[in-house]
Amino acid sequence: MSREGGPGAIVDETSRIAEVLAVLTREYGEIPRFLVYASPFQLLIAVILSAQTTDRQVNLITPELFARYPTPGELSRARVSDLEAIVRPTGYFHAKARNIRATAAQLVEGFAGEVPRSMEELTSLPGVGRKTANVVRGTLFGEPAIIVDTHFGRVVGRLGFTAERNPERIERELQAKVPPRDQYRFSMMVNKHGRLFCHARRPDCPGCPIERLCPWPGKITA
Ligand code: SF4
Repeated sequence: MSREGGPGAIVDETSRIAEVLAVLTREYGEIPRFLVYASPFQLLIAVILSAQTTDRQVNLITPELFARYPTPGELSRARVSDLEAIVRPTGYFHAKARNIRATAAQLVEGFAGEVPRSMEELTSLPGVGRKTANVVRGTLFGEPAIIVDTHFGRVVGRLGFTAERNPERIERELQAKVPPRDQYRFSMMVNKHGRLFCHARRPDCPGCPIERLCPWPGKITA
């Protein structure tokens, strides 16, 4: 991976955000897809299950879950104990089993089996918070979406784009700073960067393609 940014790259924040996005897009190409799914409904369920665990873990259990319950109707009729047995490896399995079943039922009853589009409707579903709703809105509907998870929050903090810790405040601050048309791509690229380089414990700053754009005082120098 090449380092980019150029001398004097730490300029005003708007330019720095644009440059971070441009460099990460050049480095990573296509918007990454972390979860495996075959329908909007399956994406929604996979994102609910991804709370407090890794996408990899979710991808290990969803093939069985979606083979047995591929649609909202089928999932809404599942036995909670059967769901618990499948989703157990993702943690918090009592709550997750109840939530995905209740969400499926609500999709059938209130949304004709379709995944809704608005933030308000999505967050009315059991187990769906703003992060999940933003993933769905950005991925399925092309809506502007700042997706704040642990990777995103860490990286934008280190890049100096926010000093907030609270996910909702981070979302609001970045919504105001990143142009709407770029928000989803920015979220996904920054997220991938957090997974590949900007690790929580020991970030790979010497190899980081946006090192010159990063003002973090804790940067690890080669
Ligand atoms: S230089 Fe280091 S801390 Fe800054 S974005 Fe890159 S990996 Fe993260």
